Amino acid sequence: MTLPDAVIFPRTTEDVAGVLAWASQTRTAVIPRGAGSGVCGGSQAEAGSVVLDLSLMNRVTNVDTVSRVVDVEAGTRGDQLEGVLAEHDLTVGHYPQSVAISSVGGWIAASSAGQASAGFGAIEDVLLGLTAVTPQGEILRCPAVPRSAAGPDLRRLLVGSEGTLAVVTEAVLACRARVNGWAWLAYEFPSFTALADGLRAVVQAETGGVVIRGYDQADAQLSFSALGHTGGCVGVIGFPAGIPGLTERTSLAIEAMSRAGSARPPGVLGPAYGEHWWAHRNDAVQTYAAIMGPDRVFGPGVIVDTMEVGGLWSAVPRLYEAIGAALGGHADAVVCHLSHLYSSGSSLYFTFLIRGNDDVDAEARYLAAWDGAARSCAAAGGTITHHHGIGRLKARYLATELGATGADMLTKIRSALDPHAIMNPGVLRP
Ligand SMILES: Cc1cc2nc3c(=O)[nH]c(=O)nc-3n(C[C@H](O)[C@H](O)[C@H](O)COP(=O)(O)OP(=O)(O)OC[C@H]3O[C@@H](n4cnc5c(N)ncnc54)[C@H](O)[C@@H]3O)c2cc1C
Repeated sequence: MTLPDAVIFPRTTEDVAGVLAWASQTRTAVIPRGAGSGVCGGSQAEAGSVVLDLSLMNRVTNVDTVSRVVDVEAGTRGDQLEGVLAEHDLTVGHYPQSVAISSVGGWIAASSAGQASAGFGAIEDVLLGLTAVTPQGEILRCPAVPRSAAGPDLRRLLVGSEGTLAVVTEAVLACRARVNGWAWLAYEFPSFTALADGLRAVVQAETGGVVIRGYDQADAQLSFSALGHTGGCVGVIGFPAGIPGLTERTSLAIEAMSRAGSARPPGVLGPAYGEHWWAHRNDAVQTYAAIMGPDRVFGPGVIVDTMEVGGLWSAVPRLYEAIGAALGGHADAVVCHLSHLYSSGSSLYFTFLIRGNDDVDAEARYLAAWDGAARSCAAAGGTITHHHGIGRLKARYLATELGATGADMLTKIRSALDPHAIMNPGVLRP
């Protein structure tokens, strides 16, 4: 493990400005860190670096109930933020599985998407304003407005910047009325293609479903085994309880799925599927920690990871087949679900388990799996990451995704803002 030379815990934007001005002058590498839940190695220390840990900048500084916006410091974790908003019957509606182990600044920097993204959008949809510090220690303030046409949106420039362009210190996020309960629909599909067609039809029919997810057969059996599920693929649709016209929305969803061309209409499963999913939606946090943390419950030589790609609906079937096959060539198990759905396409979230003779062997298989899957993703026309970002893990695939001109643009933006290359040097570099 590489240790940094120091870990710095700023309490204010001005503290961050002081640190970055010093780092720029002394050419010291800075690794911004939110809550450290990123899965691409983005906040890993490097030799000779300082880690800038934002966890003490964890205050919710204002809730504007008229505009329904919240001002929050970047190190605030999702559960802390939602706890304060609950007192006002509000929510940001951004619920990544890691909500209790990730921070607002990390969401922005890693371009995060929550599990209710079908209805509530991803982080860029709720980000109205931000304060950030440039590598030279200058403070950038983008005021909170519902939308702005004042040039390229600098807020958006920092979404997905992974600590390479600036340190986000404060944000203003849009809120909405808190959801007090859910109404769930669940359907069974005979194949992944039928599942994808059916859920695409639901999204395109604009039923108002806020949570929409689709599990392939293997993932469905893992996710719903507690309900005795032994059947096929499962689609789950969640509406905020009490939403007007639920009966009509349900009919619209069923009608859309029936028209979607599956050989037989989807089988209706009970609301227990949605209720079970909601109750256990964040269990993977513990599972992941148990397998990959110090306990290594599956023993050494076992690695579990996820790969979340995205593509247009027309590419979804080939992404599913090609990436599943590429991962399956190295992994003991591969399961997949459609995790974030849009009218134009979807994210495919693969979970895979690699077993080697020991950790060294497992790591070689793991890297081979990523290489094969990344190549398959590019060939099938997908993006290598829908919401986890690039970090160190996927940096070697970035140039293929952006193309030579795109990679060159990113490098130039980075050099212009950070001429001494102090900001998270190993990350997001094509
Ligand atoms: C079990 C599990 C489930 C997950 N589920 C989801 C999910 O549902 N949706 C999802 O989107 N992600 C998910 N993630 C990934 C992760 O939680 C997100 O990427 C999250 O946005 C990272 O936030 P963080 O505060 O932990 O950031 P960190 O891990 O600390 O940092 C991530 C990157 O952002 C940079 N960074 C952090 N804070 C700042 C800042 N203030 N300014 C500038 N740069 C900064 C870091 O340098 C690093 O490059 C999951 C992770 C785990 C382990």
